[in-house]
Formats: sequence, structure tokens, C-alpha cells
Amino acid sequence: MSDESFNKVVINLASLVHNYQVIQRTVGPSVSVLAMIKSDAYGHGLVEAAKALSQAGAKTFGVAEVDEGITLREAGIEGDVIVFLGSNNYEKIIQYNLSLVVFDQDVLAALSRQAVKQHTSVAVHLKIDTGMGRIGIMPTEANCYVEQIGTLPGVHLAGIMSHFPKADQEECLAQTTEQNEAFCCLLEKLAVKEIEAEQPPKQIHIANSAAINCLPESYNNLVRPGISLYGCYPSDFEVRLPQDQLQPVMSFYTKVIQLKDVPAGYGLSYGHLFITKRPTRLAVLPVGYADGYLRCLTGQADVIIKGRRAPICGRICMNACVADITDIPGVELFDEVVLMGKHSNNSSGAGGADMAAISAAEVADWMGTIHYEVLCLFGNSNQRIYR
Ligand SMILES: *Cc1c(COP(=O)(O)O)cnc(C)c1O
Repeated sequence: MSDESFNKVVINLASLVHNYQVIQRTVGPSVSVLAMIKSDAYGHGLVEAAKALSQAGAKTFGVAEVDEGITLREAGIEGDVIVFLGSNNYEKIIQYNLSLVVFDQDVLAALSRQAVKQHTSVAVHLKIDTGMGRIGIMPTEANCYVEQIGTLPGVHLAGIMSHFPKADQEECLAQTTEQNEAFCCLLEKLAVKEIEAEQPPKQIHIANSAAINCLPESYNNLVRPGISLYGCYPSDFEVRLPQDQLQPVMSFYTKVIQLKDVPAGYGLSYGHLFITKRPTRLAVLPVGYADGYLRCLTGQADVIIKGRRAPICGRICMNACVADITDIPGVELFDEVVLMGKHSNNSSGAGGADMAAISAAEVADWMGTIHYEVLCLFGNSNQRIYR
């Protein structure tokens, strides 16, 4: 992935900041926004995303593992950095002033011992499984954990959190609402509302992007958007999060490396899956599954050249594929080709507004997956350029 690659993922940091502001406006001034920047900020670049969001006022960041937290600190990121998957690297957590999501008593005890040894205290967020069926303690254990944290030296309860499994599904709204009520009930039993009045207030958080969209009563004092920060809509039903206001942050471009004309009846690429039906003008593109442009896009994908859609024909190879540009006049060697997003100068020709952009959701449909995976895949497989 040298600087000279034909394939470039372009990250528009102004759009990232715009989306952060849209979300902050949506949740209102009494709710803070915890920016989920795990997995290299969903493929957008951990440090670059954190710096842009910091400058825009973000003070709390969510990462998966301790190493990401260390990277942020070494890049000079201040504020709260919360490690969501837990860790047994207690020294590093303390050394880099990270906060830890906790869901295990042995981890809490060990963290406490190390913190006491280093004469400090670590902020922990207790994760309760209120229905996600993944990470977190069971609700029946919550009281015991809160008491344990209260008595252990070297750790303090900074927050209590949970997670929704189905907030993106409109037909499950009742279930999501019920889960949120159960979480609220539990918090009341734990007397967290009273603790919340303490300074600094405990952070109570459960809302991901989908819940920010559909369940305002789940905002508490902190929300945890990920996908919506990157300009993608979390669900296919719109309630609070204004879809038309979010801006895609990532685009993916390649260039034409050869133009050629072939006759009708000519087989294209490995296996000749596609046989031309007419005399055809082709643009060869230097992108393939090694760049995250997966083989399963074969027979599915379009690209945009000169503002117009061209289908990819035949097998997508490791580093190459072929587009049919017979209907697009004037294509030249090394012209920009949009794999996702729209043209960088946006001076697209004919084709209509919708046809002249390819969203992560559309690529995900072609691949048979979700836009989260497309962002991670493209972003982490290619050279990234920041605008
Ligand atoms: C990734 C993650 C989020 C963000 O989810 P989005 O759907 O991207 O908004 C929130 N909370 C937890 C615990 C996560 O792991």
C-alpha cells in the first residue's frame, strides 16, 4: 500500500465532524456523545478520527482494546478513553489513564490491587447484559458488583452501561423499549439515580446509533454512536436521526489502467462468466479482492465513471476487474473511477443524483453483508487519504 497505489480510500473529516454535530443536536445539550472509534474508527483511522472529533468538542471515546487506547494517548488525545472489551493489562490501563468496561470480579480485584500498588484509582464502567446476550454481567449480579466496586480500593464506578441487540429493527421497537425500561428499573434499584447526583455524575449509557434514532428515552446522560458518526444510517426506518443530514465520510476510488474494444461473443476474466453480447468497450480497473473489493461482488457491482454507472463484468480477480463502458463516451486512461461514494470534484455528468453516488449500504447489499463490514474492509485494506 504505497503512496503510489491506484486505489485510494478518501476520508472526509469535515463530514465526520458534521455528523458528530448532527448527533449532538439530536440528543440535545444535556446528553454527552461518546464517540465509538473502535476498529480503527470503523476503518476511517483511529487517530485521525479522534483528533478531528476532539477538535469538534468530543471528550469521550470508545475503543475495543487497550492497544487502541495506548495509540490514542501516544497521539496526544486527552479526555476519557474507555476500553470496551476488558483487559488484563492492568499496568498499561493505569499508565495510560484509560477507563475500563468491567464484567468480571477477578478482573476488578486484580485491577484494584495494581491501582493500589501504583497509588491511583481507575474509572470503571459496569456492563450489564439486559438482553444483548453477549458481554456483561447478568442483572441479578448487578447489586453485588456495585457493592464490590464500592468497597474495593483503587477503582471507582464511573458509569453503568448496557447494549441493545435489536434497536435497528422497527418491528422490535416494543422489545427494545421494554429492555430500556428494565435497565432503568435496575438502575433505580441500584440507587444509581442518587449516586448520579454525586460529582462527577455517573455516566449511564445504553444507546447506540439505532437507539439514538428510535428511542430518545434511552439517551440517559451519554450516548454511544458508531455507524452514524461515519455517515451511515443505522436502520431502515427513520425517527429522530435525520438520514438526509448525515454525510458519508468514506469514499473509495480507483483509476482506469486500460481501455480496449472487444467484439461480441468475447469472454471476460477468469472462467468467462460474462460473454459480451455486443461490441463492447472495456475499462480495466486495478482493484480486486486483495483490496477489499471482494470476489462476491462479481455480477453485482457497478462503478461510477464520468458521473455515470458502469457494471463490473465477469470475475473480480485479486487485483483487477473489468467495467463495461460502452455507453459512456469520452472515458480516458487514468480517469477516476468511483467504487464507493461520488466523484471527488463532484462535477458529475448525466445520470441523476442517486445514480451518481454509491453508498456503503448499496455495496453491502451487493456483498450480502452490512455497511459496517464494508467500511472496515475498504478502510483497512487500502491507503487512506484525509481531506
Ligand atoms: C460498536 C458499539 C456501539 C456503536 O454501535 P453503532 O451501531 O455503530 O452505533 C455502541 N456500543 C457498543 C457496546 C459497541 O460495541
